[in-house]
Amino acid sequence: MVDLSTFLADNPLFSAGFGLIGVGAGLAVLRQSARRGADLMKRQLLVSIEIPSHDKSYQWVLGWLSRRGADAIRAVDSGNKDITWVRRRIAGAVLPRHVAVQTSYKQHDNGSVSTAFTMVPGQGKHIFFYQGIFIQVDRQRNAKMIDIQSAAPFETVTLTTLSRDRAVFTDILQEAREYALSQNEGRTVLYTSFGPEWRPFGLPRKRRLLDSVILDQGVSAGIVEDVKDFISNGKWYDERGIPYRRGYLLHGPPGSGKTSFIQALAGDLGYNICILNLSERGLTDDRLNHLLTVAPERSLVLLEDIDAAFNRNRQQSDNAAYQQSMVTFSGLLNALDGVASSDERIIFMTTNHIERLDPALVRPGRVDVKVYLGNATKYQICKMFTRFYGAENEKLAETFAEKLQGHTVSTAQLQGHFVAHKKDAASAIDNVASLIEMCQGN
Ligand code: ADP
Repeated sequence: MVDLSTFLADNPLFSAGFGLIGVGAGLAVLRQSARRGADLMKRQLLVSIEIPSHDKSYQWVLGWLSRRGADAIRAVDSGNKDITWVRRRIAGAVLPRHVAVQTSYKQHDNGSVSTAFTMVPGQGKHIFFYQGIFIQVDRQRNAKMIDIQSAAPFETVTLTTLSRDRAVFTDILQEAREYALSQNEGRTVLYTSFGPEWRPFGLPRKRRLLDSVILDQGVSAGIVEDVKDFISNGKWYDERGIPYRRGYLLHGPPGSGKTSFIQALAGDLGYNICILNLSERGLTDDRLNHLLTVAPERSLVLLEDIDAAFNRNRQQSDNAAYQQSMVTFSGLLNALDGVASSDERIIFMTTNHIERLDPALVRPGRVDVKVYLGNATKYQICKMFTRFYGAENEKLAETFAEKLQGHTVSTAQLQGHFVAHKKDAASAIDNVASLIEMCQGN
């Protein structure tokens, strides 16, 4: 009998082929075991946290990572002699192989536009150092999956570190959240609807002070008291099974401060504003209902110029803007009524033409408080005057108000006049005729 080794040794062709197969198989086994071993090591030693793009923390974490990068650049530019301090900052930064830019854009009250660019880690893997630990950031986009809410490609950010350091993730998420919230501190975020969700519109605005909007005597305090009373009585509504919502209608001529007051009120309460645009292209009853249900916490929902959306026959108004929307009048009523929910809901509507509103829209339950904000009263004229020119000019304020007696002037027009004569109270009085003339022309 020929033994195998002799046979292989005697047969050069076979032995070479067999040898090659043997080496190939051996390598494959080695490769596979190495991969398995690596997988096992990874499973045992590493821990990851995946944050999908539709989760709130997604933007928070990206923002936080980009701030660490910015800190590092600032540290290098600062010329600080404390090398350890600078090094620590650089080490703490994400060292991205490529960055993506996120642009935010803001239109100021004076019409000018400013833009801010933020560098965030681009797609791919990046490493950073945090609390003495190396962490890998992997930002990935799945082109095949679309986030149905925002119609944007689905993305994830995965943070990976050694499993013994898993507690660090909680710290990162917490810090990222606090950082995001601190960016909005003292500011009012304006949200607009984007598909079925609410998205911040522009950069958060500096809060407007309540006493910068001068309403007639006691009016502002009355609304503030009512809203605060509502906010602090959630339990009362809950115990009685009453839907926890309140509707306000501010009506009156244009330029009487309706929108400004709502902004100032939101600032005073520390709330944000969700601007619901009934003329939005493609807005349906279902989506409107959904939007009201998912409005961010601690926000006032604002429906401006509510008279413009529907005509007296409860049909879409002829206004071309509203033709793009598919919301029906009954859909709007249903959305306002909503399901009985324990979530707080505060809706503010404004109109210049209360007489055009369908009574069904403003019945109690939908609108609980109606407030008229009119043209400037003597009280408002004097108050605005002294706010512009100082409390010591009370006498001049009286003179100015007397000159306007019998004329219809809006508070917005008054503001315009004071801005035009901002340096000199006497010139505001001397030129009162131009204000009267302008108001008569309107
Ligand atoms: P409305 O919503 O009633 O049309 P706005 O709030 O848009 O009026 O006001 C337009 C402008 O006039 C804003 O710049 C605002 O600051 C100013 N304004 C109007 N009313 C007042 C008021 N009562 N107090 C202070 N400013 C006012």
